[in-house]
Amino acid sequence: MSMTDDWRTKSQPIPPGGRYPAGDYCSHCGLCDTYYVAHVKDACAFLGDGMQKVETLEPQVHGRSRKDNLERRFGVCTAMHTVKMDPPVAGAQWTGVVTSLAIALLENDWVDGVICVQSDPDDRFKPKPVIATTVEEIMAARGVKPTLSPNLNILALLEESNLKRILFCGVGCQVQALRSVEHHLNLEQLYVIGTHCVDNGKREGLDKFLETTSDSPETVKHYEFMQDYQVHLKHTDGHTEKVPYFCLPTKELNNVIAPSCYSCFDYMNGLADLVVGYMGVPYQNVPMTEHYQQVTIRNKKGVQMFELIKPKASIESVEMEGDCRNFVLQTVFQEERASNSRLPKFIGKWLAAALTKFGPQGLEFAKYSIDYHTIRNYLFVKRHWGTKADQHIPGYSKAIVKEYDQNDKISRLLR
Ligand code: FAD
Ligand code: SF4
Ligand code: SF4
Repeated sequence: MSMTDDWRTKSQPIPPGGRYPAGDYCSHCGLCDTYYVAHVKDACAFLGDGMQKVETLEPQVHGRSRKDNLERRFGVCTAMHTVKMDPPVAGAQWTGVVTSLAIALLENDWVDGVICVQSDPDDRFKPKPVIATTVEEIMAARGVKPTLSPNLNILALLEESNLKRILFCGVGCQVQALRSVEHHLNLEQLYVIGTHCVDNGKREGLDKFLETTSDSPETVKHYEFMQDYQVHLKHTDGHTEKVPYFCLPTKELNNVIAPSCYSCFDYMNGLADLVVGYMGVPYQNVPMTEHYQQVTIRNKKGVQMFELIKPKASIESVEMEGDCRNFVLQTVFQEERASNSRLPKFIGKWLAAALTKFGPQGLEFAKYSIDYHTIRNYLFVKRHWGTKADQHIPGYSKAIVKEYDQNDKISRLLR
């Protein structure tokens, strides 16, 4: 019998506590927790061609490759907007664009179920992927659980459920693996809504981050690295605590970010039909639950989905102001020198306020974040992946690094 006939019954999911095929670089996307482990070599974002698979799959998913300097960063893009739900969805991470889209698809009978991430009943930060088939179940998935989530462990259950029209919500590494196996799922319709994602980590590391960052770690509900250069931590009693980036103990937090996320080149979720984030929107000095979000539409399905929420959304065009290039290099060099010292809070606050006023704004801020993370992760992969590095890093990321590498500014960091 060939693999095409019997892989579902013959393959052995990785048991709890077992070693995953991508080893230390596994982002625990969930694929290997099911019999879909049979396809791990082709599907995993950290094996074989790794993240270069994004470039291979883009023409299949969107009908074309990235075409210019903007798409080198933001991915294939037919439209980009700043959007907020009006009124916002109570309890969402931001204004609930993702939740609103998911509910609209279900209520308009475009899908039978939505793969999304609720919280473990015993731990609000531990992700629990589900197939939601009611509005209540989608609503229960509001808010980011800021740790690696095994969204694809739902694939075997999905096949058992016989649901044929599905919306998948997830981050880049999950979407890459999903796109590689979607033809095996025998679905009639698959929509994919992505979120931006960077610097994620395991559940164990999150406690360390909250303990070193917050005055009251046990009451943090959601947090976000905002465009005003501060981490905003929303607490269960409703107050928001703000900690400037420059006051975080960078070195101490190094192993809070997972090795997978130091090796990731898909911040913008290149293979989703539509992507939701926030970093490309100028800071509006309002809580994130009233703040515009960034929506990137990649293809026809993305356009169709976006039409559904338009009547309940306030929509503006994107803005781009400033030039982030020097700031990117400064951040990279600063990180290379990183010590355990953190700035006193009042200086950190002053610096954050100055940068918010005079630094890169809107898409230029997003470009700053993408370029910095691309260079940082490029250096990490070059240092840790040996001969496999070149095969893993996508061409669009190598091209970004090259833009900054005049006079060997980046290459010499590797000597
Ligand atoms: P909501 O309507 O509240 O819905 C949130 C959705 O996120 C839910 O459908 C849920 O299924 C899904 N979700 C929750 N936790 C996870 C998880 N661990 N993995 C996968 N899916 C999950 N945007 C940026 O611009 N820059 C960033 O650096 C950035 N980092 C992010 C990191 C993570 C791990 C995630 C999940 C998102 C990140 N985002 C980032 C996106 C941003 O935080 C918001 O998710 C996005 O703007 C949607 O907000 P919302 O109010 O529309 O979401
Ligand atoms: Fe398997 Fe996903 Fe880990 Fe890759 S990242 S080894 S596909 S669980
Ligand atoms: Fe996956 Fe990349 Fe997000 Fe890490 S940063 S969880 S590898 S998409």
